[in-house]
Amino acid sequence: MFTLTAAKPALDRVHHTACRTAVEVGWRLAEGAASANDVAVTLEGLRAAWEEGLESAIHYYEAPPELWALPRLVNVLTLLFNEPAEAARQLLVPLSIVHPGQPVPLLTPEETRNCCWLVRELFNRGGVGPLLPWENAWQTETAVALAAQIYASGEFSAMPILADALQDVGCDNVDALIHCRGPGPHVRGCWVVDLVLGKGMNRPPNPV
Ligand SMILES: [Zn+2]
Repeated sequence: MFTLTAAKPALDRVHHTACRTAVEVGWRLAEGAASANDVAVTLEGLRAAWEEGLESAIHYYEAPPELWALPRLVNVLTLLFNEPAEAARQLLVPLSIVHPGQPVPLLTPEETRNCCWLVRELFNRGGVGPLLPWENAWQTETAVALAAQIYASGEFSAMPILADALQDVGCDNVDALIHCRGPGPHVRGCWVVDLVLGKGMNRPPNPV
């Protein structure tokens, strides 16, 4: 989810069907709703796009970085399906592809800085302290329904209401409460929403 969300600025500059399909299948894969065949077809499309993109980039050897964006992005999206951590790294680290000259960044410096915010949003890893405990009892029907609605719609204005619902049943995880009531912005994959829905790997161990 980090790579898919962080790659969005690059995707906005590259309108390529294979890349769009890869993002869509990537999201479904994260939801456990993509088949092995979906992935195989996507990777085949990316392979063709890679060759196509590389050809034009090599052709315009002295060309501006935009021409390198397609093969770079295709590379990142391909890695997403096999080596997600490496995909995230390549998204952020300027890289040379065949071209022996200047490394070509995929994101602008500002977009790269925004990724620090994204790490906090998705992984709750901004502070120095340990993760605060989380209790299943806080995942009431009300809280789960709210979180499900937020997740499905991608509309986060109800986050403070989610905080109220959690606090009403005794939630004292101040990181989660402050996060819900903070200025955001939030994205799909927000660690609090995922935690309430029991999704993903952001769940800290419960106290015994
Ligand atoms: Zn959030």
